[in-house]
Amino acid sequence: MSISTEQSYTLQGISPDYDPWDPINSLRKYGKHTLTSVEMTVTHLCNMRCEHCAVGDMLALKDPEQIPLSLILKRLDEVEHLQTISLTGGEPSFREKTVNETIVPLLKYAKERGIRTQINSNLTLDISRYEKMLPYLDVMHISFNYINADDFHQVGFANSNHPVKRETAVKLYETMIENARSLSEQGMYISAESMINFRTHKKLPQIHQLITEMGSKRHEVHPMYAADFAVSLPMLSLDEMRTAIYDLLDHRNKDIWMLFGTLPFFACSNSEEDLKLIKRLRNEPNVTVRNDPDGRNRVNVNLFTGNVYVTDFAAVPSFGNVKDEKLDDIFEKWLSEHPLNKTVNCFCDTANCCGPNLLVKDMYYKDVDFKSRKAATI
Ligand code: SF4
Repeated sequence: MSISTEQSYTLQGISPDYDPWDPINSLRKYGKHTLTSVEMTVTHLCNMRCEHCAVGDMLALKDPEQIPLSLILKRLDEVEHLQTISLTGGEPSFREKTVNETIVPLLKYAKERGIRTQINSNLTLDISRYEKMLPYLDVMHISFNYINADDFHQVGFANSNHPVKRETAVKLYETMIENARSLSEQGMYISAESMINFRTHKKLPQIHQLITEMGSKRHEVHPMYAADFAVSLPMLSLDEMRTAIYDLLDHRNKDIWMLFGTLPFFACSNSEEDLKLIKRLRNEPNVTVRNDPDGRNRVNVNLFTGNVYVTDFAAVPSFGNVKDEKLDDIFEKWLSEHPLNKTVNCFCDTANCCGPNLLVKDMYYKDVDFKSRKAATI
């Protein structure tokens, strides 16, 4: 495939009926887990230091030199079934140079090849950086866990090594909301993600309302898991998690797509409560539950070292490097050889489920052998 020839594609719209990031699609299409999604870490810089940051330990004050863009494009070109790319950080647009020389070229490449794109951003910087992505980007994914600027101040700078003034945080909070509104009006698809954790679990409906008022098209909801900065934070019980989800379902705006991910509830559970919740989620209009892409149809590539990981934040060491190998080959090794993958790669067709996320298993189901379980008929 040429990376410079523009082609026109008619792509199926992203909707509750079609989520190209869900690994169940490629599993069904190819009969086995297949690499269709590549996430790239484009910076370790960020203007925030969130309490729960899943890549907090990797944040830095200076980025090393990036591997050549030509090598990255070559490696993407070789991924036979590539359907989506995601760009993450840090704050990917922290430096304008990264926007101009890495992000926009990668988004353009994807657009020309008919590949869907997502970027994970805090949206607090100058809007011009995000406007440069507007013509090419499919999903602007932001984190939103607040009901006001004070919440944002408390959560967003909890791991800063110097005190951040309230006025500074308020300004960033207002910029984020204004950027979200303005970019939505200009046609950007904004998907705001909230985590269910000890701070948010009783105020998710209020958070949801602010997200809808900002013009977001989708609200993503994931439990917080113990990774990096979040390791020392209090974790919710499964009961608290279920209650929080019911509260959100009872109070949500039903016109907005609500996408749940990495949930710790499975159709093979012995718990009536879990099965009841799964049934409710299945029957709710405009609600989907995404299977976890990490290691199923996606790998993460660090654009500075070239190292390939199962996710951007897992403690699982790298299992390949794009300087030496094709991504399809690295992924195949993970699938066929890695002992961790073998613990979670179950599949129940009727339940639309392809197993737990590694962190979910580790936190709530350490001793459960999912490969010996089967989904109940609900
Ligand atoms: S795929 Fe695995 S986790 Fe999902 S319902 Fe089946 S056995 Fe349970």
